[in-house]
Order: sequence, then C-alpha cells, then structure tokens
Amino acid sequence: MSDTTLNTARRLARIPPYLFAEIDRKVQAKKAAGVDVISLGIGDPDLPTPPRIVSALQEAAADPANHRYPSYFGLAELRAAIADWYSDRFGVRLDPEHEVLPTLGSKDGISHAPFAFVDPGEVVLAPDPGYTPYATGAIMADGEPYMLPLTADNAWLPDLESIPADIRKRAKLLWLNYPNNPTAATAPDEFFEQAIEFCRVNGVILCHDAPYTEIAFGGYRPPSLLQYPGGREVGIEFHSVSKTYSMTGWRVGWIAGNADLIAALGQLKTNIDSGIFQAVQWAAIEALRGGEGDTLAANQIYLRRHLRVAEVFNGLGWNVTPPRATFYVWAPVPPGYDSISFAGHVLDQVGVNITPGVGFGPHGEGYFRLSVTAPDARLDEALERLRGLTV
Ligand SMILES: *Cc1c(COP(=O)(O)O)cnc(C)c1O
Repeated sequence: MSDTTLNTARRLARIPPYLFAEIDRKVQAKKAAGVDVISLGIGDPDLPTPPRIVSALQEAAADPANHRYPSYFGLAELRAAIADWYSDRFGVRLDPEHEVLPTLGSKDGISHAPFAFVDPGEVVLAPDPGYTPYATGAIMADGEPYMLPLTADNAWLPDLESIPADIRKRAKLLWLNYPNNPTAATAPDEFFEQAIEFCRVNGVILCHDAPYTEIAFGGYRPPSLLQYPGGREVGIEFHSVSKTYSMTGWRVGWIAGNADLIAALGQLKTNIDSGIFQAVQWAAIEALRGGEGDTLAANQIYLRRHLRVAEVFNGLGWNVTPPRATFYVWAPVPPGYDSISFAGHVLDQVGVNITPGVGFGPHGEGYFRLSVTAPDARLDEALERLRGLTV
C-alpha cells in the first residue's frame, strides 16, 4: 500500500472559497427545477460586439499570416492603437514600445502582476469590497493581502492615512479601481493625487484597474491614473476592450504606464503565455480606432436601465441613486437580512439572481450588487418580480 497522498499546494487552501461558484450551483438547481431565473448577477454586457469588430476578426482569421505564434509583446499596430487611444482620450502620450503591453484580457495582467513585483511576505494592499483577483493573485505569489475597507461614509474610497506604519513598510503594491466594481463609485482628482503621493513616499507600486473608464453617463469622463503628475512614475494601468466594446469573451486587454514595470511584466509573461491570437488583436485595433459611437450608444442603453432600476427600487424604499459610471447598482439589503440571506430570498421567491456584497469581501456585507447587463425586457420582468417581493 502506498503512503503517498496527492496533496495540492498549500497556497490553494489559502484562497477563500469562491462564493460565486456556490451561487451558480443554486441557480443551476433552480433552472433544473424549471424556474425561469433572470440573472442580474454578472457584469457581462448583453449587447453584442459591434459588427465592424466582428468583421475585422472574420477577415483576419482567414489570413494564414495570423495563424502562427504571435509576438509575446503584441502587434506593433495594436500597441500603437492603444497609445493613440490614450492620447485621444486622456491626453496621455505613451511610448508604444516601452509603455504598453497587451494582455489576454486585464485579468491576465492583474492576476500575474504580483509574480513580477511581490516577494514572499510582502504586502499587497487591496480594496474590500473589491474584484477578487487582487487578493488571490497576491496569495498565489506568496504575498500577504492587506484589505483596505471601502465604506459608504468615505464615499467608497480607501483611507490610505489609516494604513499602519508596519504595513506601509512591507507594502509593495496598491490596487485601486475607479470607476469601481462592485460599488459603482468614482474617485475625484484629489484622491488620485493623494494615492500617487502615498505610493511615492512609501515605495509602493500603484496598480490602477480601469476597465470602466468608458462606461459613464451624463457627460462624466472618468480619468486615467496616467494623466496625473507622477502617475507614470509610480504606476501602471490595467485596461481592456471587454467592457468598452462588449468584448468580454475575446480576451484582449493591456497594461500601460511605467516602462520598468512594463518590462518586468513582459519578461514574466514570456514565461507564461504565448501571446494573443493575432486575428483578435486586429479586431481590438478596429475597436480602438473606430471611434466612440458604439460605446456611447451602449452607455445610453445602460443609463436608461439604471434610471428604471432606481425608479423601481426607490418605489420599494431601497434608496438608490443612479451611478455616474459602470453598469452596476450597489444597494443596501433590507433590514432583517444579511447579503447572502437576501440574495437567497430573492432567488427563492422571485427567481432573480443578484450578487451578495460579502462575495467581494467582508465590508461588502449589508449590500447587494445588480448588473444592468440583461436585455431590456428581461430587466423589466425582473423589476416587475421584485416589486412583488415580500421582505
Ligand atoms: C471586468 C473586470 C475586469 C477584467 O476584465 P477582462 O475581461 O479580464 O479584461 C477587471 N477588473 C474589474 C474590476 C472588472 O470588473
């Protein structure tokens, strides 16, 4: 008899259970029982990718030149399109060769960044509630996540002043994400300036995750970290075509900013993946070079849905203000529930799937997130059902 057991790595056990997998199981069980579940749980645009981008992919896919291994560092044409887009949109001049690195979606860059920057025992500062790869990426690199609470009282911004001295000393990386998932909060100029100063003084790498800069309403234009003085000295920005052009399934994004940090990530990535299918890169070039029309049209649809949700929720006494950016609604759960019991109750009683705030971290407790990325008719049906909810 063998006494060998096939143990998995200890780092896997340090990763908290993925709440969303559990919710998915519940939703599947409901569907199997014949319930017509409406999912408002995931931030994934229901609108199709604009046809001009699909056509670019079709054409590029037919060209054998695109069938071989791509460059590790992306097509020069893609890096140039990204740099030009930053220039047009933010007035930020990037050197496409040294300050831009295409990725397989921004999650690729986010989850791997700690492998390039964090040594075992070093601290990664990450928002709570927040996108879970900030903390799990740190854990996989044997770093130590230190969570920064986001609270309504502080307008969903972390209080950098409150970070203890011993943590500052060991801190290597700070994650920020504005416009924010899950809270839909935006950050003022002063906050970006303060964060840049914090990172400069403490020798911390500022990683800004910015996939929602183009999903904004009422004339609001969310900023880039790189447009602020000193931003490029301390940091990098993670961006992608996923949300801007309804391209979540295509897996293409980029990292932009500090050339030394970009070089380190490039070195790391040559050892992990073998680049992005070139036909997808040509589609991303078409996306970035094709103007803002498609994005503005999508934003009008998201805004209209946000206004509908706010109208119905406020009628229920749930007290929400339509956000200035993102396709998320972040709202308090009614009294008598925690976020998991409320999401469970909504699913059981009216067959609508929303996300409990605690799934994004302990400070998400007491809230739920809903995404307005369901077709109008489905969203209306969900709102009609919620109107009849007994709490
Ligand atoms: C959607 C999202 C991403 C990742 O998008 P990709 O599809 O990997 O480019 C990253 N961060 C946040 C906060 C997101 O909501």
